[in-house]
Amino acid sequence: MSHEIPPAAPAAHFIRNIIEADLAAGKHAQRRWVGRPGPAADHAAAPLDPARIRTRFPPEPNGYLHFGHAKSILLNFGLAAQYGGRCHLRFDDTNPEKEEQEYVDSIVDSVQWLGCSWEMGDENNRYYASDYFDWMFAFAEYLISAGHAYVDSQSAEAMRANRGTLTQPGKDSPYRNRSVAENLDLFQRMKAGEFADGAHVLRARIDMAAPNINLRDPAIYRIRHASHHNTGDKWCIYPMYTYAHPIEDALECITHSICTLEFEDQRPFYDWLLERLAEGGLVQRPLPQQIEFSRLNLTYIVLSKRKLIQLVDDKHVDGWDDPRLPTLVGARRRGYAPEGFRLFAERIGVSKNDSLIDYALFEDAQREVMNESDQRRVAVLDPLKLIIDNYPAGQFEDCQTPNHPLHPELGERTMPFGRELWIEAEDFQEIPEKGFRRLFPGNKARLRYGYVVECTGCDKDATGKVIAVHCAYLPDTKSGTPGADSVKVKGNLHWVSAAHACPAEIRLFDRLFRVPAPGARREGDAPDLERNFLDDLNPASKTVITAQLEPSLKNARPEQRFQFERHGYFVADRHDAQPGQPVFNRTVTLKDSWGKEN
Ligand code: ATP
Ligand code: MG
Repeated sequence: MSHEIPPAAPAAHFIRNIIEADLAAGKHAQRRWVGRPGPAADHAAAPLDPARIRTRFPPEPNGYLHFGHAKSILLNFGLAAQYGGRCHLRFDDTNPEKEEQEYVDSIVDSVQWLGCSWEMGDENNRYYASDYFDWMFAFAEYLISAGHAYVDSQSAEAMRANRGTLTQPGKDSPYRNRSVAENLDLFQRMKAGEFADGAHVLRARIDMAAPNINLRDPAIYRIRHASHHNTGDKWCIYPMYTYAHPIEDALECITHSICTLEFEDQRPFYDWLLERLAEGGLVQRPLPQQIEFSRLNLTYIVLSKRKLIQLVDDKHVDGWDDPRLPTLVGARRRGYAPEGFRLFAERIGVSKNDSLIDYALFEDAQREVMNESDQRRVAVLDPLKLIIDNYPAGQFEDCQTPNHPLHPELGERTMPFGRELWIEAEDFQEIPEKGFRRLFPGNKARLRYGYVVECTGCDKDATGKVIAVHCAYLPDTKSGTPGADSVKVKGNLHWVSAAHACPAEIRLFDRLFRVPAPGARREGDAPDLERNFLDDLNPASKTVITAQLEPSLKNARPEQRFQFERHGYFVADRHDAQPGQPVFNRTVTLKDSWGKEN
């Protein structure tokens, strides 16, 4: 029997509808694929593409991936898997200044951790956009030759002023009608390093009066004397993102180029550019189609790289993999399950409507997965000594406990039982409040998987604080024996043997922010009030405690996750544990079901 959550039946959404319609129409059936990215000529001589569709996940390696990226990763890799396609991992590293190997490595790790693979059969579809610089340059030369691009030498200010506004058309640059020969010459000299940054730009020649400002002769190449992590000092001109991205898609034979809504206004340029290049025979038809969906926003967290960087740099959290951060490295360290991300992504679906999703929905998906997959263990988080006065000192016996109540085939383990146990401090009340069913003098309760005990009193220190609870056990009432049901009790508590328990550091996490929309204005705010998301940080988002764990947890492996009965799901920390000395992070609390169970 498998303990994996069965994949949710894929629900229809508008992107699936588009793909299914394309497949039904055979739109991409004649595409060819030479086995690697390339211009039309390379693919033309190759066999038909065995992939029915191609999608891509194109991160810029300038930061760590976050929950929003997970949505995009699972969508793109998921669609490829569902429709017999391939999904490429493409590093969009055309910007020379910001990219670092550390980010590339972390992105690779996180995508793999989510269970996605860019390798299939003999294809390894991991690409770097910077490997396409030669093609991008050659395509730009073609655009110049065909009259579709020109070198503009206006100052940045003049260019901005002449772009016009939403209500006013722009003005043609005085350089717009340079001859092809002059443009080619200037462009080559830009490449050769003859000019300073900003002296010239290459622009597409479209229409300075276009209602869509993105079509008013957008810049496609700029001069930037900067070293690139991949190409070194080979280039001092770099393509603009809006020029590079469609070309990357076309070279890789992407069929469905899925991005977030803020690129919607760029789609006309995406289509214009690829049409021109296809006319010139440079990229293969049918052209990739850009499809936009709304980005993931979640309550109580922030998902912008800029804000995440600020949280890390200003040390509001302990690094990029702090379990409170919505980065994927943070999620992994926190113990969240990749399957939980998958279930969540499937549930929230894909749409074009911006929405703020309740973080609780994410946690619910995680709990659902973990409830199914995680073995149960016992940990006492706030230990108080329980002394069973009629149980012989030095005597111990085994109690059988199931590893997973839903999966008896996962077997049982034994927990030692003896005269002195650790119980939760909250499970004893000297003067019980109404409805309290666990230990108070004169009351009987069950020690789960052990005996029924009757509370007889407690010891206190000089300040009146309870330091030990006393009880007597009822010898015939052991769980699993015929006498187990002879005494009916209403309370049920967990415990670990004090002589065997393993003390361990446990980190409990609360929301990183106190409010659902950190930094957003709130009702009643003065009109001129600007909020700073940092002011909404929860000062108590992390608590470190020492708990007493059942002995079998002593050798938990890093990243092994369990349900600690009554307390939630906990993962052995990836980095801080020593052999025999685990450290646990609480991934998520249980739903508040304890009251019902008992
Ligand atoms: P941020 O805006 O947080 O800085 P980004 O969009 O700049 O992120 P990229 O590396 O460019 O980060 O993103 C890679 C892919 O992930 C893009 O296709 C982008 O649309 C997608 N993506 C980024 N954030 C989200 C999000 N919140 N929801 C869904 N997809 C996202
Ligand atoms: Mg981006």
